[in-house]
Amino acid sequence: MSRIELNREHFFYNLSQIEVQTKAKERIALVLKDNAYGHGLLEMAALASEYGITKAVVRSNEEALAVIDFFGYILVLADIPQKPHPKICYTINDADAIKKFPQGTRVELKVNTAMNRNGVNQEEIDHCIKEIEEQGLRLEALFMHHCCADERDGNYELQKRNFELIKQNAPKGLRFHSCNSAALFREKDFSEDMARVGIAAYGCMEIDAKLSDVKLRPVLSLYASKISSRVLKKGESVGYGATFKASREVVVSNYDFGYGDGFLRACSGEYVTVEGVAIAGRISMDNSSFLSEAEELLIFNDAKEVAPYAGTISYEVLTSLKSYIKREII
Ligand SMILES: *Cc1c(COP(=O)(O)O)cnc(C)c1O
Repeated sequence: MSRIELNREHFFYNLSQIEVQTKAKERIALVLKDNAYGHGLLEMAALASEYGITKAVVRSNEEALAVIDFFGYILVLADIPQKPHPKICYTINDADAIKKFPQGTRVELKVNTAMNRNGVNQEEIDHCIKEIEEQGLRLEALFMHHCCADERDGNYELQKRNFELIKQNAPKGLRFHSCNSAALFREKDFSEDMARVGIAAYGCMEIDAKLSDVKLRPVLSLYASKISSRVLKKGESVGYGATFKASREVVVSNYDFGYGDGFLRACSGEYVTVEGVAIAGRISMDNSSFLSEAEELLIFNDAKEVAPYAGTISYEVLTSLKSYIKREII
């Protein structure tokens, strides 16, 4: 069976680099949404807790409850609870959502500073804060999300200025956070209450080198097992569409990792592993063929290197990996 190895040393190294930026473990909120970016929710929660991380960010209530014992604080980005939980803060993404939260819920208000996805506009904030009070919710923080933190041009500075103004006008006693991975690493002197860090912790952050020269270490490696091998004679093809034709006699083996398991089909035809093993033809649902005889093949140990073959980003390579693939911590 295909399997995933999670490198504890690399994860801890990345967390140590993140800690240099935040200046305290307590200010790191590890983003565990989407099965911890495909790494495995429970595995990464346990490792993070072992390192001393006390805060997490997830998408849903269900994810929060699954890892509740590992953390002292969890921020849920997009869900509404049946009843309040003492450890969980919920995001208010829109003014209309306020009345849907049960009385006593800990909430954080997302503010829109130019991304124009979720969050209330600056001029709505005072009104929302009043409504949150009237609904009997416990407002603890204002936060925002960057749209261009990994690029030099774009809205980064504009969003920062907008958020600074919002902070100045906010009622006393609230917490503030704005940084994802790239924003945290481009900050020279981070001073907010926490940073919400995902991709950097998993070692696959891509950021303009002029903004940060940090070197992180990919945590996840994916291995596939051989199902069968054969010799292809010159001119014979392999797989759907017969797109690969042997230009000479070659050994081709079929491995148990296909697009149904999370191998992006756009990698068909061109992909070459880090060990120099070339794919042969199209990726199919449960199989992919490589010019190799190895019983087990390292398909990748750095999602950043796979992404360009599929015209995508490491986030998509990682979150495509199905949760049933066995994860082992090494
Ligand atoms: C996913 C997400 C993050 C983490 O982003 P990275 O680039 O992986 O660090 C932070 N904040 C919010 C609101 C998110 O949705």
